[in-house]
Amino acid sequence: MKRALFAGSFDPFTIGHRNIVERALKMFDSVVIGVGVNDGKNPMFPLDKRLQGITEAFADEPRVEVASYEGLTVDFARECGACCLLRGVRNGRDLEYERQIAAFNSRVAPEIETVLLMADARYEDISSTLVRELYRYGKDISDLVGW
Ligand code: ADP
Repeated sequence: MKRALFAGSFDPFTIGHRNIVERALKMFDSVVIGVGVNDGKNPMFPLDKRLQGITEAFADEPRVEVASYEGLTVDFARECGACCLLRGVRNGRDLEYERQIAAFNSRVAPEIETVLLMADARYEDISSTLVRELYRYGKDISDLVGW
């Protein structure tokens, strides 16, 4: 059984993230969405809200699990039995960033592969940062969040 870990901050989980999970389900038997708890980051959406929202979004999909984790992503991948780290790439900047993380992760955990999915053209402009910006100024973000 092939399981992938899709790890991120998901502050908030957007329709772009959701699209990555839906496409990954065509390639993997199951996907764990790991919400990383990072002491250095001060999230706009509380951890509980993110976990609950993402869990509800995939309530009808038994092949998706949602969990929070602290520490190294590769350690959490090993813990959940994931063979692959799933990430999304929107542009050249994402690619450069993801390339370095993937190389470093494979140095630390050579048995775990990184799988990069290109963002769907419909969602490549969407980032959690921009959605937070809208939210901060009181705009409706319900069409952009994936929960
Ligand atoms: P992190 O804080 O780890 O960068 P994010 O929650 O911002 O986590 O993103 C998690 C992953 O989802 C990253 O690989 C990011 O490139 C990808 N991603 C973010 N937005 C989109 C999108 N609109 N389409 C596809 N992938 C995306």
